[in-house]
Amino acid sequence: MTGSPALRGPSSRADAPPGPEDFRLGNEILAFRFVATLSERRGNPVERIPTPEHLRAWLTLNGLGGPDLPVSEALLRDARVLREAVHRAGTAVAADEAPDPADEALLNRWTARHRARLVLTGGRARWRLPETDPARAALAVVAVDAVATLGSGDGVVKRCEQSTCDGLFVDTSRGRRRRWCSMATCGNKVKKANLKAARTGTG
Ligand SMILES: [Zn+2]
Repeated sequence: MTGSPALRGPSSRADAPPGPEDFRLGNEILAFRFVATLSERRGNPVERIPTPEHLRAWLTLNGLGGPDLPVSEALLRDARVLREAVHRAGTAVAADEAPDPADEALLNRWTARHRARLVLTGGRARWRLPETDPARAALAVVAVDAVATLGSGDGVVKRCEQSTCDGLFVDTSRGRRRRWCSMATCGNKVKKANLKAARTGTG
């Protein structure tokens, strides 16, 4: 269902369903793309899943559901609680600290709900969700990705250096010199700011 044409309406149209342009999808790590559904965390935070429909759209765009995925306000609340636990735990790991045990316990409750199956279809891996409570099973996939990423123990989890972002990413670059969660958003923002500063002689 990823990239379903039904979800590609331009965000400028108020009646259009949420589409890729409403989210930050440039991060390679599923769990950190989820963290980025609250962006500009150190500036003016932008809530990119303001409604259950936005959460459904995000899950669908990330291969975890489709237009019929049942969503609710309660699910949205739980999703945001999960998201913030991933952010806090990831921020701790990036600082070489152990996450808060409460956040670890929350993540572990979610991974215990992991019931989605990874299947190979047409040469591509896809998640197949269970019929009962598929949306929570989809969020459990995000939690499993978070635990696998944060717990890898190889010191590659980093905080984005763009001053207003506070997103997370995994740095697998040679020499570990990557600085931004996504080149397309934060990397460009920093480059443009540097260019402007150089032109005006303030940098
Ligand atoms: Zn960033």
